[in-house]
Amino acid sequence: MTPDTYVPGVSENGVYVDVLPSSIPEYGLKCPCFDRYYLNRDKFVQHIKCKRHSAWMKQLNLEKHNFFKKCVELEQTVKQQRLLIAELEKKSHRVHVENLIDL
Ligand SMILES: [Zn+2]
Repeated sequence: MTPDTYVPGVSENGVYVDVLPSSIPEYGLKCPCFDRYYLNRDKFVQHIKCKRHSAWMKQLNLEKHNFFKKCVELEQTVKQQRLLIAELEKKSHRVHVENLIDL
């Protein structure tokens, strides 16, 4: 099983802030700032006080105005990829039918 991903909270002023989970999920909690997961709440508390995490939070707040733009771009990418997959499935089906005819 995969650990849950930690998601910071948003303050009344729209600033990302750390909100400690009341408990750590069964399969652990992974912070996006670091490729490691935590099974213990105390260890996670230590993590969010570290320099790397603080720098990540700072960057997150600096970039928050770009998130909407990124979200729109990602939606467009997903749409294009869905169309591509549908086209490939059609082609693959056609090849399969042609192979059946050849048999
Ligand atoms: Zn972190």
